[in-house]
Amino acid sequence: MLQTPIDYLKGVGPNRADLLRKELGIHTYQDLINLFPNRYLDRTQYYKINQLQRNSTEVQIVGEIISLKEVAQKRGKRLVAIFKDETGTMELVWFRGQKWIRESLKLKKPYVVFGKTNWFNGVFSMPHPDMEFLEEHEKNLRSAMQPIYPSTEKLTNKGITNRVINKIMQQLFIETKGRFQESLSENIISELKLISKSEAVFNIHFPKNQELLARAQFRLKFEELFYIQLQLILKNLIHKSKIKGLPFKFVGDNFNTFYNEHLPFELTNAQKRVLKEIRQDLGSKAQMNRLLQGDVGSGKTIVAFMSMLIALDNGFQACLMAPTEILSVQHYNSLLELSNKLNIRIKLLTGSSNTSERKEIHKLLENGELDILIGTHALLEDKVKFKNLGLAIIDEQHRFGVEQRSRLWKKGPSKSSHDETKKAPTPPHILVMTATPIPRTLAMSVYGDLDISVIDELPPGRQAIKTVHRFDKNRLNVFRFIRDEIEKGRQVYIVYPLIQESEKMDYKDLMDGYESIVRDFPMPKYQISIVHGKMKPADKDYEMQRFIKGETNIMVATTVIEVGVNVPNASVMVIESAERFGLSQLHQLRGRVGRGAEQSYCILMTSHKLSNDSKVRLETMTRTNDGFEIAEVDLRLRGPGDIMGTQQSGVLNLKIADLIKDKDILQSARYYAKKVLSIDPTLMAPEYKTILHTYQQLSKYKNIWNYIS
Ligand code: ADP
Ligand code: MG
Repeated sequence: MLQTPIDYLKGVGPNRADLLRKELGIHTYQDLINLFPNRYLDRTQYYKINQLQRNSTEVQIVGEIISLKEVAQKRGKRLVAIFKDETGTMELVWFRGQKWIRESLKLKKPYVVFGKTNWFNGVFSMPHPDMEFLEEHEKNLRSAMQPIYPSTEKLTNKGITNRVINKIMQQLFIETKGRFQESLSENIISELKLISKSEAVFNIHFPKNQELLARAQFRLKFEELFYIQLQLILKNLIHKSKIKGLPFKFVGDNFNTFYNEHLPFELTNAQKRVLKEIRQDLGSKAQMNRLLQGDVGSGKTIVAFMSMLIALDNGFQACLMAPTEILSVQHYNSLLELSNKLNIRIKLLTGSSNTSERKEIHKLLENGELDILIGTHALLEDKVKFKNLGLAIIDEQHRFGVEQRSRLWKKGPSKSSHDETKKAPTPPHILVMTATPIPRTLAMSVYGDLDISVIDELPPGRQAIKTVHRFDKNRLNVFRFIRDEIEKGRQVYIVYPLIQESEKMDYKDLMDGYESIVRDFPMPKYQISIVHGKMKPADKDYEMQRFIKGETNIMVATTVIEVGVNVPNASVMVIESAERFGLSQLHQLRGRVGRGAEQSYCILMTSHKLSNDSKVRLETMTRTNDGFEIAEVDLRLRGPGDIMGTQQSGVLNLKIADLIKDKDILQSARYYAKKVLSIDPTLMAPEYKTILHTYQQLSKYKNIWNYIS
């Protein structure tokens, strides 16, 4: 019944059905039920004309029309009614459909008008009011709280107003008799004192009162989050039971020697804790599938390296994949340095490795003569075959898609080489690392299928980066400041935005900027590097290396340096046109400084024109260095879909719950989902019949599950 196409609902018809499908994605009765109101208007409340405020929202007023007139305007004319109550007068205005409105309006009869008011020159007006005769209004007052449904301009223009949706919804309740199958188990309903599904659905669309509305919202939000959690946890359970891992039974020479003799610094407690978590995973029989979150500069690299050593100790190979060439080179260099007292073989493979290098790497890999391979997407190529890959690490994983993660899986060792029946390879353990902190609430619902470790502590001795916002006209002061820092021996980044749609212009900005910097910081006193996406990898690398070695004072760059680059002596990050960057990007860029012992600075340069969102971003950046706090603000500004990228956004297409505001409900939903599955992972027990049934229905009809698979 609920899967009936929306066309069949009385009052809809093919045209409206088409619009509902295209504009709101409503295909079936079920979809319509799940079109939840954005908000509700309290229609028990009446205003007097003299109580109106200049920026009030919708109001409801009782009064009479005392006169009507047509007023000529630039194009066509508008119809204006003078509307009066005992406290004053205002105008009702129509720009469209004037003829029949004019004919249907009655003078001197009490109306209830409803709508948003504007104020101009001392007069309030209400364009296209929703209106009814007072008599009638009193007769059919259905619900004190009127639902306001999500809509689009096209829908309103085609006459599918809120009122029409309301009518269609009423029709749906008539046809279904308002009875909906229960979708949660009795236990959960009674423990949480939830109202029934039918009651909840009714009250979300036609709330009887505030209390029932609140309970309906709670129940439906809980349900939505519960089933997402159930899905994620189930997937994780299946994963753990089905996917055998490569057992790394012990910690051996490489790890112990490094840990006892060559650690360049004391690990932070957070690093130790995370290593312990990883070791536990690697030692278990299941495949590790872990996300390591740690703010920029928190020291993820060494954790990655030490995890690799465990793989090596157990006779396996390891690889580390990074999203850019620069970053891969840098990882390669730091791993070479960390391992210089150990007897292990590490190689780098990127897009710019030449044929003979590649050939050699392929050979060494297959022979098992190479222990660690570092590189870019080049690692994913079919020709890259490991003898026995045991651990694959992906840095800055948000740059890679799920698909790429899964391609690494297939590079694990086949069961045994003399086995003729080609067995599927055992997947290597996977560690994905990210410096884009994901708020815990979000991580919980999006990455519910990964285990999560967090490095929530920076190495000691770091000073908080000082961040300031400066307008372009203060550039001279900023340059003076840069000169002083260079005088002290520090290095400086100056970063320009490069956003694809306007690449040409951005490129010009970068070159103009570069020229003016060269003018203000003349050779030979100052040396300047420049790095941008249009350069050949070898040139980029050359310029980058000059900066890393301290041969240049200033690095002028586009966002290619955003991720991971580590030059501890750089103490100033200047971000040009900072208003054009998103929060997480700004935070990433800022993370390039503050890596040494010196006080570091981040200077956000902007023009004078700033949107409200830009102001919030700049204010947030100058207020805090805490990546998690910044991520929360980012989430509020942009909504979750954007943050996670498209491949995961499906799951975040929540219909009623809000990941930020409904954190507590999410936690409770997760708790109950875990509990249910810990009692009966198959959901076959009689008391879970409704849950199993709903779950199957959802996986059949709803797209929220698609992103998985
Ligand atoms: P990220 O987490 O951003 O990848 P890195 O691994 O690049 O951070 O580490 C940033 C810097 O901090 C590096 O120079 C690294 O050597 C240093 N570092 C990492 N851990 C520690 C520690 N426990 N004590 C001191 N310095 C550390
Ligand atoms: Mg890093």
